[in-house]
Amino acid sequence: MIKITKEFDELEKYKDKFNKYLLSKQLSYTFRKKKRVCLFNEINKEYLKYYLKYIKKLKEYKKKFKDFDINSIDYKKIVEGIDFVKTHKSELAIGKNEALKEIIISINNIFNNCEKEKIYFNFIISKIFDWNDFRKNKLETLFLIFYKIGIEVCPYCNRNFVSVFKTNKLKTIDYAIPDIDHYYSQVLYPYLALSLYNLIPSCNLCNSKFKHDLDTLNNEILNPYINGFEDKAFFKIILPNNDNILNLRMLNNQEVKDSCSLVIEEKSYTIPQIRKSIDIFDLENIYNEVHRNKAIYEILRMIRLYDANYINSVFEDYNKDNFLEKDLELQKYLLDEVDDFLQEPLAKLKHDMHEQAKEYLRRSP
Ligand SMILES: [Zn+2]
Repeated sequence: MIKITKEFDELEKYKDKFNKYLLSKQLSYTFRKKKRVCLFNEINKEYLKYYLKYIKKLKEYKKKFKDFDINSIDYKKIVEGIDFVKTHKSELAIGKNEALKEIIISINNIFNNCEKEKIYFNFIISKIFDWNDFRKNKLETLFLIFYKIGIEVCPYCNRNFVSVFKTNKLKTIDYAIPDIDHYYSQVLYPYLALSLYNLIPSCNLCNSKFKHDLDTLNNEILNPYINGFEDKAFFKIILPNNDNILNLRMLNNQEVKDSCSLVIEEKSYTIPQIRKSIDIFDLENIYNEVHRNKAIYEILRMIRLYDANYINSVFEDYNKDNFLEKDLELQKYLLDEVDDFLQEPLAKLKHDMHEQAKEYLRRSP
């Protein structure tokens, strides 16, 4: 789980596009062979009544609205919800997590004890805040926004690429963008379907298979726009032979592989979202199953590098020619480390392995 450190720019531009999109959205139904259309901005009680009557008859929604008695629905409540959404468009477009959370709480308060009205409200909002339609029609906007923020790897797992790029190989579009996860599920909170700070470029596995419609309001995981593991959770290889580095040096790679395991160790237990995120994305298991061998190899390589005083000798050689001046820079260069973990798959794992190797060497006699 990696924090997205770069900030979005051109927020006003996004807000404009979002507003224009909402202004163009409409609901429609057919009554006595005549199509009746209503813009989002003009939705009122009367229109909603007919609209519900209409969708209740449609095959695909019959089940969903089967218990809805048109006369017992409090349409004023629904209009109140819609009006709240209309008056909070700016926060919805570019508000950060706290603002989005407040909106959820306010809307939940409006529909307190009005479950049917809430279902109907969510349904209407999902027709207006239509992510699939927005993604299709505003692809260039999304492309530019996410191209600039420049995330190459999934912030949830740090394993799969989520690059944004141009291509002319796709039939109708020129822009390739990855899956976008909604931190707050668009099924549960449809009014947040287009909120910029609710959109997280993510790999397909994390988005659709693991996180899915998890209710992150009541089941909070780390939100990459706020924090990641950083120095609070580390990938760690549990080594055999009481972690004695001298013993480790004598083992061959296969022996080590057979007797090591990989865990994600928390340095602080004050953030419950860390363990929850590890569980939801099955990170400990995936890293163990897929990346453990690479990580062990990396540790052994590091220990051998350091052991031979390799870094120091290279540093001295390079330094003579003033090739690189800072120790730290040289180390990063030799160890092939990146500063931004969202630029390269497994960068956090690699970083933590290096730290672990260094720690062993500090302690070794
Ligand atoms: Zn992922």
